[in-house]
Amino acid sequence: MRQQIVAGNWKMNNDLSQTESLLTALKSQTKTTQAEVMVAPAFTNLYQAYNSLKGSGIEVIAQNMHFAANGAYTGEISASMLKSVGVKTVILGHSERREYFNETDESLAKKVDAALENDLRIIFCFGEVLEDRKSGNHENVVETQIKNALFHLEAAAFKNIVLAYEPVWAIGTGETASPEQAQDMHAFIRKTLANKYGADVANSVSILYGGSCKPNNAKEIFSKPDVDGGLIGGAALNADDFFAIVNAF
Ligand code: PGA
Repeated sequence: MRQQIVAGNWKMNNDLSQTESLLTALKSQTKTTQAEVMVAPAFTNLYQAYNSLKGSGIEVIAQNMHFAANGAYTGEISASMLKSVGVKTVILGHSERREYFNETDESLAKKVDAALENDLRIIFCFGEVLEDRKSGNHENVVETQIKNALFHLEAAAFKNIVLAYEPVWAIGTGETASPEQAQDMHAFIRKTLANKYGADVANSVSILYGGSCKPNNAKEIFSKPDVDGGLIGGAALNADDFFAIVNAF
């Protein structure tokens, strides 16, 4: 049985007091499913969130990190810094990082290595843009993203990797992949993993869907056999909406 996961990516939202309010609202929610629940506040609010959510069953995770251990990288945050404030999981490769901050498969491979060396779990994101989908090239694009950033790893590393398929055309647009499109791609991703690492690894890795996942569509998307949860942007900023998604399994 694969782990079900719902992770909220707050992106560049919520200052100190807004974070406090959302944390309080999250703690008043009740989880009725087996899903692991995670939230990713901005770096400046990680320690606050970690302290606030201790014992709540909600894990605090990071949105990004640098691959270097430390040093002259102005504005960056290392794996050990994240660990020092209680973080055990980091999102890597989000399409906004790829698009606006020039993250490439090559730099992401280094981040993946640095995270694993530091015993951090990874939620690794990838997904095609609209032109790829329209031209029918979406599977190739996704396969290349996965291969380039992850296929240098040993099979054992996948114990600490969660995959997140996020079609770029569905992120923040209100447009979702249909449950069938999500299922088809997740099955393709699992097949790609199986070809390289075998069925046991492929069947054990959780694959999340991200892209305008909302309370009104989560249940149908999560009902698909290869969809193991969601990476939630906009709807994660409201505790009721977020927990409606957590409880949609
Ligand atoms: P969205 O974002 O739910 O607002 O579309 C998803 C994501 O970027 O993880």
